[in-house]
Amino acid sequence: MYAIIYLKKDREEALGRFHPWIFSGAVASVKGELREGEVVEVRSAAGNFLALGHYQAGSIAVRVLTFEPCRINAAFWFDALQRAYRVRQALQLTGNASTSAYRLVHGEGDFLPGLVIDIYGATAVMQAHSAGMFLAREEIAAALQKIYGGALQCIYDKSAATVPFKAGLAAQDEYLLKNTGTSGEEIIMENGRRFIVNWEAGQKTGFFLDQRDNRQLLAQYAKGRNVLNLFCYTGGFSVYALGGGAAAVHSVDSSPVAIALTLRNAGLNSAAAAPHQAFTTDAFEFLHRSPCHAYDLMIIDPPAFAKHTGALKNALQAYKRLNAAAFSKIAPGGIVFTFSCSQVVGKTEFRNAVFSAAVISKRRVRILHQLTQPADHPVNIYHPEGEYLKGLALLVE
Ligand code: SAH
Repeated sequence: MYAIIYLKKDREEALGRFHPWIFSGAVASVKGELREGEVVEVRSAAGNFLALGHYQAGSIAVRVLTFEPCRINAAFWFDALQRAYRVRQALQLTGNASTSAYRLVHGEGDFLPGLVIDIYGATAVMQAHSAGMFLAREEIAAALQKIYGGALQCIYDKSAATVPFKAGLAAQDEYLLKNTGTSGEEIIMENGRRFIVNWEAGQKTGFFLDQRDNRQLLAQYAKGRNVLNLFCYTGGFSVYALGGGAAAVHSVDSSPVAIALTLRNAGLNSAAAAPHQAFTTDAFEFLHRSPCHAYDLMIIDPPAFAKHTGALKNALQAYKRLNAAAFSKIAPGGIVFTFSCSQVVGKTEFRNAVFSAAVISKRRVRILHQLTQPADHPVNIYHPEGEYLKGLALLVE
């Protein structure tokens, strides 16, 4: 039997709107013993069933797995992952000859709060952001094997850095399945372009799949342009710019590992012969030192400047500064692809920061495209916080 959490009468309303989080302040009482990461049943003050979810100490006490009474067992995980798989099938991401990497599970967006699973060819990389998903990792891996069969050669759990340390779980990155011949990295295809993904050494699960559609759009604007890709990581945008016929591409990242991968990826797609140079340095500095009008296509895709609401004000200042510098430097008629991946920075706040940047630069700036995350990173309508990637493609005269 699961432990039972009874909610305060005036705090039941959020669950009625299917929000997947229950905050600790909403808990009135508990029957049974609460254990970190274990499944709990949530009931109304009157004792009616409301949901099942993973319990965790902290401000989010329960992450809801289902609003239907059921058992959280092998069949539950299989059904949940199968549903996620069917969505990716509908998106034509499975069995796709030109794109072999996609997100299978996007946390709350797939009704599985705390779980991320990315597919890189024959490898699945999972990341638990909650104690509950970490404890369920073997069951999740078993469900993955059942769905993919022999098409899956490797399952890597990369939760050491993301499982909440407070839970006291000794998480180590480890293989839950490793067939012979798997090496820690794989060459994946994205829209016909090739990328090395190293899930052991890479950031997050190894590759930023969330920019797939935006990279494709960028390629359409690249022809004949001088491109600056700031915060390039593995060089995703650089490879597309080269493929799109850019005159020259400069890639910048502060991480030497990222720059090494960028150079390897540019080499892998070297049919595009335009000159490419990569710089291991601070993006703010690089932009500051670069001559005026040297570039006419810029990509600005920084890491999340705000990880929590307390950091919001400084983050907005940083977005403003960075974009103002880009607008001041770009050649007339240039295009800026600018992004924020901070979950706590809303679409409107980001746009206002970019607006302030435009005012500072005194350039004529127009929005050509409003960008977001691709469909394999779905947003649960009851959890609008899940819409984390915001971007604008701007024409700067
Ligand atoms: N655009 C990339 C993803 C960017 S992730 C893609 O399409 O895959 C953010 C990157 O910013 C990371 O690679 C990180 O190493 C880099 N970074 C963080 N702070 C930086 C700084 N101050 N200057 C340059 N790069 C930085």
